[in-house]
Amino acid sequence: MPEPLTPGALLALDRQHVWHPYGPMPGKAAPLLVESASGVRLRLAEPVEGRDELVDGMSSWWSAVHGYNHPVLNDAARGQLERMSHVMFGGLTHEPAVRLAKRLVDITPEPLQHVFLADSGSVSVEVAVKMCLQYWRSLGKPRKQRLLTWRGGYHGDTWQPMSVCDPDGGMHELWQGVLPRQIFADAPPAGFDAAPDEAYAAHLRELIGRHAEELAAVIVEPVVQGAGGMSFHSPGYLRVLREACDEHGVLLVFDEIATGFGRTGALFAADHAGVAPDVMCLGKALTGGYLTLAATLCTTAVADGISRGALPVLAHGPTFMGNPLAAAVADASIGLLLSQDWEQEVKRIETGLRDGLAPAAGIAGVREVRVLGAIGVVQLDHEVDMAATTRAAVREGVWLRPFRDLIYTMPPYITGDEDVARICAAVCAAAREG
Ligand SMILES: *Cc1c(COP(=O)(O)O)cnc(C)c1O
Repeated sequence: MPEPLTPGALLALDRQHVWHPYGPMPGKAAPLLVESASGVRLRLAEPVEGRDELVDGMSSWWSAVHGYNHPVLNDAARGQLERMSHVMFGGLTHEPAVRLAKRLVDITPEPLQHVFLADSGSVSVEVAVKMCLQYWRSLGKPRKQRLLTWRGGYHGDTWQPMSVCDPDGGMHELWQGVLPRQIFADAPPAGFDAAPDEAYAAHLRELIGRHAEELAAVIVEPVVQGAGGMSFHSPGYLRVLREACDEHGVLLVFDEIATGFGRTGALFAADHAGVAPDVMCLGKALTGGYLTLAATLCTTAVADGISRGALPVLAHGPTFMGNPLAAAVADASIGLLLSQDWEQEVKRIETGLRDGLAPAAGIAGVREVRVLGAIGVVQLDHEVDMAATTRAAVREGVWLRPFRDLIYTMPPYITGDEDVARICAAVCAAAREG
């Protein structure tokens, strides 16, 4: 065993050597040191603001839907570990990957029949884009190589995904002029329950029609735009996109990396609209937050197109493709989700969030409070003070990670009513510090 390091020593080494997400080097704000996690609680190595345990309001960026240290997922990981943690996927296959692929095909919209297992959400978006471009190339239409999306989106941090993130004001603005130039529609009008706006639908149809010759695909986050601004829109626009894409010969990609596995109240956000995309990306909650894994699903038409081209293969193959450990845990996580009344649990959290966040509307500087499924958002009329808001939440015993003008939560589905109320109290406390 290596010599134990004190929390102080670990934090000093962290600051000196370790990059954190979207951070400078050395880091500006000291991260909290987590020693272990169980259920919905993160245990800190040393108390912060008098707290050594925090209720997790973030599900580790949407992923830990069953909470931490779950016996069923632990068993799946342990069982697979005893057999093998990894083997290459070129020329070999294994039960965890096959079972997972079959399960994903069974629970996603019917036309999606083929599964590419990648190691992160961003890579699954890269694969989706490659599938779409290669499909048109195979069909003798190599000019169809651009993408269309709407503003306010987020699709990951590697190159193609960055090119379809919101181009203004987001963290990838720096790369304008370097990234591939994609086509941007206006952001969808806000409101899950709002009636679809005809003028906006016409705007989508017009753009798709005008650029059809050069468009490989339309890619969007259905119903909820996550890291781009935590906004909700009418599922009706997904039907508009499906119709316009069919009419003009453009593929439709749904990035359900954040919305998949029940978060919005439907198993997949596409289900709210009854629309099937040609390609779908899954990630985040896929393994219940245990391991990194993502999936790109496509229709038989897309797979056939690619496989009949001049280069009749999908030229992509990550080293850790189909990782058995991750696949076994993912299969167990989906099984666990489907074995319970997850819809009822998400509804219960939705009700708790509506009740608990309502008072935030009366706080000075709050622009809007919105809730959909197990997602609660308080939007301010100014940038949050990240340090002050985080500290305020920690003082309430809750872990939150606000960004831009947003203080938000998407708790694990196992979060009890008292803990949901506590998370809401922390969001309100953070908004007051905002
Ligand atoms: C998080 C996210 C991604 C990127 O996934 P990573 O695993 O972080 O690479 C892509 N699209 C959406 C909608 C996401 O929320």
